[in-house]
Amino acid sequence: MSRVNLAIIGGGLVGASLALALQDTARQRGWRIALIEPFAPGSEYQPSYDARSTALSYGSRLIYERLGLWQRIAQRAEPIQQIHVSDRGRFGATRLQAIEEGVPALGYVVENAWIGHCLWQALDQDLIEWRCPAEVVAMQRQGDGYRLTLNDETCLDCDLAVLADGGRSALREQLGINVSSKPYGQSALIANVSPLEAHRGQAFERFTDDGPMAMLPLEGNRCALVWTRSNADAERLLRVSEAQFLGELQQAFGYRLGALQQVGARHLYPLSLVEAQEQVRAHLVVLGNAAHSLHPIAGQGYNLSLRDTLALAEVLIASEAPLGDFATLQRYRQRQQLDQQMTVGFSDQVTRLFSNAQPLLAAGRNLGLLGLDLLPPAKRWFARQAMGMGTRSL
Ligand SMILES: Cc1cc2nc3c(=O)[nH]c(=O)nc-3n(C[C@H](O)[C@H](O)[C@H](O)COP(=O)(O)OP(=O)(O)OC[C@H]3O[C@@H](n4cnc5c(N)ncnc54)[C@H](O)[C@@H]3O)c2cc1C
Repeated sequence: MSRVNLAIIGGGLVGASLALALQDTARQRGWRIALIEPFAPGSEYQPSYDARSTALSYGSRLIYERLGLWQRIAQRAEPIQQIHVSDRGRFGATRLQAIEEGVPALGYVVENAWIGHCLWQALDQDLIEWRCPAEVVAMQRQGDGYRLTLNDETCLDCDLAVLADGGRSALREQLGINVSSKPYGQSALIANVSPLEAHRGQAFERFTDDGPMAMLPLEGNRCALVWTRSNADAERLLRVSEAQFLGELQQAFGYRLGALQQVGARHLYPLSLVEAQEQVRAHLVVLGNAAHSLHPIAGQGYNLSLRDTLALAEVLIASEAPLGDFATLQRYRQRQQLDQQMTVGFSDQVTRLFSNAQPLLAAGRNLGLLGLDLLPPAKRWFARQAMGMGTRSL
């Protein structure tokens, strides 16, 4: 049996970012922090054609700059210079340009494995105690914190437990935290694609009657495809031959990048909007995908979680109360509530509006896209949401 001040359950991108954000304070205040994760990260980074990637917003870049990690991440980050939003078969289209927004890039596309590698390398093992590979199988509330039972049958007590174990959190359910879940009836098909022409830092968000797609620029003139289709159609597209897949993709996406030449491994993610009904209790915070899982097409999920993470770290650092104090955790919740509501709302509305083949809605979004291009304040609002800077001036 051992005791730490803070136990972070889940060493994914969110859990590891929180550990990094608290590392210096842990050194100063003598906090013991444990990070518990079942899958050991490789010490060597292996670039892969098939790796999954994330579009980091400009706001996330600023957060990683503050955490001293951006220079490292930037070594393999592809800047997004322009986002082209269009509706297949209709006239409306809009372009968001980094130069117009006065930023060096609207965002950056980075392989998840690279962000994870940079995070794990930056963690000081003298301050952050890795329990890896290890999994928390049970959590029990105790007077002054939580007792965690690990799958190696050891126990760990903590003043504050942060649940960052992802969208399918079994522990969240075990703790009786209800979730609201709205299935989109769609799946996201993910793959890396190589186009004939140079992508020149352009990202494409394209809306079709069958569902939205995003084609994001990646290092080495690859593109990261996120293609949303009905569950059945996505299953079918997972299985068709490479040539047929590229043919259908080309038809839906068009020839903005010339012929699409190669596609890597395809992966499928069934999509729902899932929100935990409680995010804080005394001695407990639910963070990251365990708190909210969003549709990936607007590229907001991780960016929102990173803002939550920084806010939680700042509130904990500013507080003089002991770790786990409920009033402190409620302050974190209040601070992020508006950002969460706006980001979840933006992502959900954009997804539903642009996934609908209903003619009136389709005409409306066509006007919406034209309007965005004609009305700079509306476009600026859209750009700030897309850049992850909607509610705060980072
Ligand atoms: C297809 C797709 C594309 C996306 N693209 C973008 C994008 O472009 N931009 C963006 O902002 N967001 C994007 N997202 C969202 C983003 O991936 C998530 O927000 C992010 O992965 C959440 O990280 P997390 O650490 O909360 O959860 P996870 O990444 O799921 O990590 C949870 C961790 O907890 C560990 N764990 C689980 N159970 C236990 C346990 N019992 N004990 C200990 N550890 C445990 C797991 O091993 C894992 O490492 C996308 C999502 C999908 C599905």
